[in-house]
Amino acid sequence: DTPVLELRNVTKTYSVKQGLFGKSKPLTAINDVSIKLARGEVLGLVGESGCGKSTLAKILLGLEAPTSGEVLVDGQTLGGQDRLALARRIQPIFQDPYSSLNPRKNIYDIIALPLRVHGIGDEASRQKSVREILDIVGLPARVMNNYPSQMSGGQRQRVAIARALIMKPEIVICDEPTSALDVSVQSQILNLLNELRQEFGLTYLFISHNLAVIEHLATRVAVMYLGRIVEEASVGGLFDAARHPYTDALLKSVLTPEPELGIPDTHLGMSYPNPIAPPEGCHFHPRCPAASDLCKSKRPTPLFDPNGRIECHLHSP
Ligand code: SF4
Ligand code: MG
Repeated sequence: DTPVLELRNVTKTYSVKQGLFGKSKPLTAINDVSIKLARGEVLGLVGESGCGKSTLAKILLGLEAPTSGEVLVDGQTLGGQDRLALARRIQPIFQDPYSSLNPRKNIYDIIALPLRVHGIGDEASRQKSVREILDIVGLPARVMNNYPSQMSGGQRQRVAIARALIMKPEIVICDEPTSALDVSVQSQILNLLNELRQEFGLTYLFISHNLAVIEHLATRVAVMYLGRIVEEASVGGLFDAARHPYTDALLKSVLTPEPELGIPDTHLGMSYPNPIAPPEGCHFHPRCPAASDLCKSKRPTPLFDPNGRIECHLHSP
């Protein structure tokens, strides 16, 4: 079966200036990443803040072009000119419904905007579509006249979900969709996303720093560290028998470090490395309890097997 979405050897490098008079240095945000999404599955992408998850999401949404490598939808390569077509098929739900919704527009305008941009329907049919989608995401039709500031965090994320789904996408890129919400609301939104996926046969890439969330929703998991996928496995395989020491460390800590959310590094000993100057050899070696001399000088070769993939000298081909 052709994957509905595929990244083939995608690398994304930025030029970053260090200080006011500093030289520009390359930052490799995504380093030779290959992933495939089968129709209807949920691929969880887990990693700490700064690992490249959000850059990956932007590439999949056509908001950033890869420096090298290919993005394929239904086996077809996408170039920049297909951005609008891509937007119809792949829609995002971002972390922060406070900043992703225009505060000066009412809910009707926010949800109907993608339809207008794509010239879909007339005003009457858009009204009808917005009513229907509000019902589907569990909001009453009267919120159409509200502004985002008049709604709770959970309601706003329902609006963001409605805005994504009104385009009838096939793939939804969920980038930390519940991280900014109160814990009590998180599970409601996760359950909603799960129901919607089943009802509409959606395919999700579900990005999170939170493995508990991934376990709840995903069928497969890819673990990212400094721009590389270091392990990929089925959810069952990963949670029962993680193979990469980094995955193992993430699993041992329910709270993974995420400075922007105020969650400190609780167990990995040192903070996340600077992506401009990644450690030699295996990028994880300064934090790895199993690191050997080989790990300091040589990057492990990925091993592909029926369980998935693993990039660690302990599991070398
Ligand atoms: Fe640890 Fe070495 Fe494996 Fe890297 S390659 S994760 S340092 S054991
Ligand atoms: Mg992010």
